[in-house]
Amino acid sequence: MSSVVYREVEAKSALNAVKGMPFDWSLNPYVGCPHACRYCFARAYNARYRDRDVGDAFDKNVEIKSNFVERLRVDLGRNPQGSVAIGTATDPYQPIEGKYQLTRRCLEALVDHPMPTSIVTKGPLVVRDIDVLQKLDEKTEVTVYFSVPCVDEEIVRKTEPGTAPPRQRLRALRMLREAGLDAAVLCMPVLPGISDSEESLDAAARAASEAGATAFRHRPLKIDAEIQQYYYDFLATEFPVMVPRYAALYRGGAYPTKDYERELEERIRRVRARYEFRERPARPARPAASETVQLQLAI
Ligand code: SF4
Repeated sequence: MSSVVYREVEAKSALNAVKGMPFDWSLNPYVGCPHACRYCFARAYNARYRDRDVGDAFDKNVEIKSNFVERLRVDLGRNPQGSVAIGTATDPYQPIEGKYQLTRRCLEALVDHPMPTSIVTKGPLVVRDIDVLQKLDEKTEVTVYFSVPCVDEEIVRKTEPGTAPPRQRLRALRMLREAGLDAAVLCMPVLPGISDSEESLDAAARAASEAGATAFRHRPLKIDAEIQQYYYDFLATEFPVMVPRYAALYRGGAYPTKDYERELEERIRRVRARYEFRERPARPARPAASETVQLQLAI
């Protein structure tokens, strides 16, 4: 029933230098994402840098960078310093990854040229790559972040219509933890009036803790200018009573009011205190000396 159109394209490079983020490089083997999260910030990138529509052009037209792994190996051969984040503008474990295995092959390239690595995904398919993640993890720091903004399936069906249910994501997280890997939950974005109640946040935190998440982080929704019309149209269709509330909270801008952010922070603090988020125990395998220098540079 999927009407996603896939197209192979050639990438000029693979590693993208990043400023002002907790990582130094980003890596995205695909453009677009059929998970179709209504709030997706990457829709804005699609409009800003590619002059594309923020709706169907993002979630129903996916580009597969067919030469991506070869380009990545060239980039890694230049010995880039710092850490890399996989999946900053697409989901690296979206369904087509099952066929193309670009993310898996990127991880294999990183095993040969280790850099501290983080992955953000909503795709349970990541468990397929536990073996290669373990190999990379023996050489450098690896964390897999599961995006689980909410565990209410009715809300998820409306806000992230193409994703796997939160239960499946958390089962995958548990499998990674049982394999000795670091895996955490990003409760992001928290959607005002939709998934920001203490009850909703508590349910997400409890499920994350029970799955063994090493951390539970949050961030309120940001509405970039490029996706405002798209997001407000979605709100008007699925949550019409929320439209006036968003107008008051965001006042036509990208961020909610500071008061809202403070109250949300307080709610999260209370919720987080009720559950345990176990940091991963120190691993017996340590990086070689040259890699230790890289890690220190990245911290
Ligand atoms: S999974 Fe991530 S990249 Fe894909 S639509 Fe959702 S937020 Fe965007």
